[in-house]
Amino acid sequence: MDCLFCKIVAGEIPSKKVYENEYVYAFHDINPQAPTHILVIPKKHLASTDEVTGETSVHVAKVFEAIPHIAAEAGLTGGYRVITNCGADACQSVRHLHFHVLGGKQLPENMG
Ligand code: 5GP
Ligand code: ZN
Repeated sequence: MDCLFCKIVAGEIPSKKVYENEYVYAFHDINPQAPTHILVIPKKHLASTDEVTGETSVHVAKVFEAIPHIAAEAGLTGGYRVITNCGADACQSVRHLHFHVLGGKQLPENMG
């Protein structure tokens, strides 16, 4: 499958890895929008939240189990924001489900 993030998980495209387990891969965003900007993804290819079902939700749960560890490792003691974009109106640009973890500064209140 021609998917950028599947290729990153496979190591075919380099990334700055910050965390990995059986289900989850996390790496620094190439174009950071905050001092810390990490992408946390399920290793399984799901295109977006639209593909989360009773069968696939375990992969999302594994992502959210990993996030506190990733945030702590990154030193985000003051808090952080988790965002996922789904579809055109949200400007999703990579069609592999991913969660942005943003922090390291006071983030704006407005989210859109
Ligand atoms: P989206 O707009 O789909 O929610 O987010 C996609 C994110 O992937 C963007 O923040 C973009 O900077 C990041 N991104 C796109 N291509 C690459 C890449 O090749 N490597 C890394 N590390 N991040 C990427
Ligand atoms: Zn993929």
